[in-house]
Amino acid sequence: MIVGKSTKISTGDLLDERALVVLSGGQDSTTCLYWAIEKFGATAVESVTFDYGQRHRIELECAQKVAEKAGIPNQILPIDTFAVLGGNALTDQQMDVETPTTGQLPNTFVPGRNLIFMTFAAAFAYQRKARHLVTGVAQTDYSGYPDCREDTMRALQEALQLGMESNFEIHTPLMHMSKKETVELAKRLGAIEAMAFTHTCYNGERPPCGHCASCELRAKGFSEAGIRDPLLDVKN
Ligand code: ZN
Repeated sequence: MIVGKSTKISTGDLLDERALVVLSGGQDSTTCLYWAIEKFGATAVESVTFDYGQRHRIELECAQKVAEKAGIPNQILPIDTFAVLGGNALTDQQMDVETPTTGQLPNTFVPGRNLIFMTFAAAFAYQRKARHLVTGVAQTDYSGYPDCREDTMRALQEALQLGMESNFEIHTPLMHMSKKETVELAKRLGAIEAMAFTHTCYNGERPPCGHCASCELRAKGFSEAGIRDPLLDVKN
């Protein structure tokens, strides 16, 4: 799915038909990497992983392995400000992942994370003359993070087009998919094997803990799609 294009920008064809995928090392971004390879061709795709001070450093390793498996060059870029700010369970060692009360955002929400990720991704893509930015955000079946919404991505795309005077397009192929549909898409794209290298667990465990919100959502998706998650068969 392509986020609506701004009509206010007349930047011509400044950037090439190349794609940069924001690869977190998780299930969704891995699916997006394979989606981009199918859409743009492997030689036109590269990926970027942000080291934002996440507690679970295993994510970075997983992203590298996924990219290697897909045969795509991956660049890890450091952004340590989120770790300095703390205040969320993904970067703050003092906080445990908690189940939110109804109507509240979970404490795994990292304010501004996707906004910053996409902005740095665009800065990197600009250097590479890559017009297409791909992200695995979804507004269905997820934790309710406001920076995963279609409206946010649409506004951000316009800001990036204006701010870099470039014809960027943000692609969000999973935006309206359930986890089941995401797993089915991964299967169609031949990405299931690569799922063995991905990381989803909020508790940083590998094999996954199986009981955190993130593990449960992943398990539900695979189960509903009737596909065995290869991550469950890894030894460490
Ligand atoms: Zn878990």
